[in-house]
Amino acid sequence: MSYLMPTYARQPISFVRGEGSYLYTADGTAYLDALTGIAVCGLGHCHPAITSAINEQAGQLVHTSNLFGVDWQEKAGEVLCRAANMQQVFFANSGAEANECALKLARLYAHNQGKARPKVVVMEHSFHGRTLLTVSATANPKARAGFFTLDDDFIRVPFGDIQAVADLDDADICALLVEPIQGEGGLHTPPDDYLDALAKICDDRGWLLMLDEVQTGNGRTGKYFAYQYSNITPDVLTTAKGLGNGFPIGACMVSGKAVGLFGAGSHGSTYGGTPLGSRIVCAVYEHLTDEVMTNAVTEGDFIRQAILDKFANRGISARGRGMMIGFAMPDGVDLSQAVDTARDVHHLIVNVTGGNVIRLLPALNLSHADAQLIVDKLSALLDTLLGA
Ligand SMILES: *Cc1c(COP(=O)(O)O)cnc(C)c1O
Repeated sequence: MSYLMPTYARQPISFVRGEGSYLYTADGTAYLDALTGIAVCGLGHCHPAITSAINEQAGQLVHTSNLFGVDWQEKAGEVLCRAANMQQVFFANSGAEANECALKLARLYAHNQGKARPKVVVMEHSFHGRTLLTVSATANPKARAGFFTLDDDFIRVPFGDIQAVADLDDADICALLVEPIQGEGGLHTPPDDYLDALAKICDDRGWLLMLDEVQTGNGRTGKYFAYQYSNITPDVLTTAKGLGNGFPIGACMVSGKAVGLFGAGSHGSTYGGTPLGSRIVCAVYEHLTDEVMTNAVTEGDFIRQAILDKFANRGISARGRGMMIGFAMPDGVDLSQAVDTARDVHHLIVNVTGGNVIRLLPALNLSHADAQLIVDKLSALLDTLLGA
């Protein structure tokens, strides 16, 4: 009997050590980690430079609260806003908190325009977090069930469907919240001109364009932020996951018409942007180089293509961009044992999303040898699943 609330369907394994793309159990068995803590440890486990930044700062100053200036927070704000091409940032402690901040900004934006009950446009298959407001913005019925979600505050449309957004005709709409590529909802990629088209609609109608890059950010897709594949600048941009390489920190950034909404007292967090967390953000930024992001594209494409070469004729298709990698199975393939078989037989850590998609979120600096190993192990798994 565990003292932990049973909120997770945990796998029967735990790890005691991590190094780069490998996790180790107490008996020393190595597992090739193609999931990196769900797109979190983008630079790999226990990256030496991140570890030494943690150690140094832990011995110097961990937390003072935001009653005072925090020099490392100023620095982290600067590097992050420059990397994102945004103007200002609020530091939170998780992805949900970053999105909660975005949704509060949208409500304040509407309030300032005299709207009584503002609505935010969100997408089918979206995932935005587990706080009450972010789970209300989330599509997954399992995450929502029983929580009296705030459904009147959102309008949901199909992901990737520009016309569905253009057709909306509700004066209460104040903002639109979308992931550039949907992660938890099954790795859906929209049409190439999607963000540009959404930006134009938002601009025309005075809605805030709010991008949830909690998962797609911090180099995951091969650009610092996935929206940088398009020609737009969002009004609000959130991120977390890879931002701290495992240290819990999130960020909500603003630009254009979202600047100046918050003043002293309108939002806050005791822990937001501690000296320790902020210094880690700076260390991650320093090591998330163009070379690392190029590697994410090269090796991500290599894994996708290698699997397609072997299995496209068996009905498997590839999804995602950079190191957000999905393989959608043809109808009738049973994935209920896939994660366990990958782990126990092939010592490969993967995940299944959207019911029929095997998902990989490897380290951005994955070596080519380990990319090849992932292909070999995954191929063996797919042979079993497809009944080779
Ligand atoms: C993981 C995730 C979140 C929630 O982040 P937490 O840190 O778990 O609160 C929100 N949005 C997206 C797109 C995510 O992938």
